[in-house]
Amino acid sequence: MKVFGSSGTRGVANEELTPEFALKVAKAAGTVWRADRVAVARDTRATGRMLADAAASGLASVGADVDRLGIVPTPGAQAYAEREATPVVMITASHNPPEYNGIKLIGADGVELVVSDLERIEQKFLTEQFDSVRWSETGGSRRVEGARRAYVEGLLAAVDREKISGADLTVALDPGHGAGSLTSPEFFRKLGCRVVTANSQPDGHFPGREPEPVPENLGDLGRLVAATDADVGIAHDGDADRAIFYDENGKYVEGDATLAALAAAELEPGDSVVSAVNVSQRLVDVADDRGATLELTPIGSTNLITRIEELQSEGESVPVAGEGNGGIFFPGYLLARDGAYTAAKFLELLADRSASEVVAPYGGYHNVRVNIGYDTDAERDALLDAAEREAEESDAEMTTLDGYRFDYGDAWVLARPSGTEPMVRIYAEAREESWATELAQAMEEKLLEAKAEV
Ligand code: MG
Repeated sequence: MKVFGSSGTRGVANEELTPEFALKVAKAAGTVWRADRVAVARDTRATGRMLADAAASGLASVGADVDRLGIVPTPGAQAYAEREATPVVMITASHNPPEYNGIKLIGADGVELVVSDLERIEQKFLTEQFDSVRWSETGGSRRVEGARRAYVEGLLAAVDREKISGADLTVALDPGHGAGSLTSPEFFRKLGCRVVTANSQPDGHFPGREPEPVPENLGDLGRLVAATDADVGIAHDGDADRAIFYDENGKYVEGDATLAALAAAELEPGDSVVSAVNVSQRLVDVADDRGATLELTPIGSTNLITRIEELQSEGESVPVAGEGNGGIFFPGYLLARDGAYTAAKFLELLADRSASEVVAPYGGYHNVRVNIGYDTDAERDALLDAAEREAEESDAEMTTLDGYRFDYGDAWVLARPSGTEPMVRIYAEAREESWATELAQAMEEKLLEAKAEV
């Protein structure tokens, strides 16, 4: 796909992602959807309103009435879509830096469009075959108040409110100036938590931190947990579909450990759990231990959604799925990643244990990541050919769903081309940091040698 990547379309706003582009995407989507009504929502980015206005114009020009939801987390927009049976154009660049923006398309069932749907829309976009209507048929527009409130109420009804309020928790929250700034503080307060915040004013310039919830950006949260004696720290990305945690000591909890802890609480024998090919051994162990089947997909949430839907249509139970980046699905609630819901599921685990105790069984692994950039297709091919040669010669157990994953018992290394940037990424995991580093470096050396020969 040229227009849509594995997580929608993203770019620097007003350079790559222009109002003209948003208008055309909306016309194409509206043409394919043929819906009487389509909603438009956005996160807090400075360029959000400009792009939402363009998308709303595009939708009206192909005859759809437009619901303007204003600033809502992506999972809040998905909940609206499901509740109202209305597709949504979501203007967000998720965790990307402030200058970026993007468009995510959500179907009338509340689920992000999968690749086959996006391809149909892309076709209309590229050929400009829009169903433009005559002037008297163009769509109207209305402001919908209360989408955020309805989202929070839906969350409150879906989680174990009593258990969480009974735990008497202090929550340190860093929504990172994103859309979660307007929903998560209220949500956790209504769950009976004492809430202290950092970076909680919605601000599209993201003055306090970058939108990506990675340790480099979350120093404030670690300090806030320590300074307020909080039981847990919670951080979101810009559109609040992800949640990352700190324990009561102000220590960062790896996303893979959180996913394993949440999966352990959800999985029953015979269930399936879906994750991507860079899955941690932590989740492999949990699935084994629970008698559940682990299904792997290529990296990217769209791939996970497609696989979850396939499994569900075969009658399989998939109570939990996700990746180690803090994006976790609880398909029984909604087939969407939801940072606030994920956080509440984690708070449920804190009823009788501390955060550090909850994740302690899933420590003991170290992850190393190395990126190798390339400038030409020839270099890219050389890097991937080298990985393939390694795979042919290796006696490790191989997985080739997305790049090459070499499994050595409880350690592994994966080399795969990035879907969004000109680089090959190497991931390694092992019980000992030195072994993880060694595995990653050995792969890096082989690939760099091949690149040098181009
Ligand atoms: Mg996101």
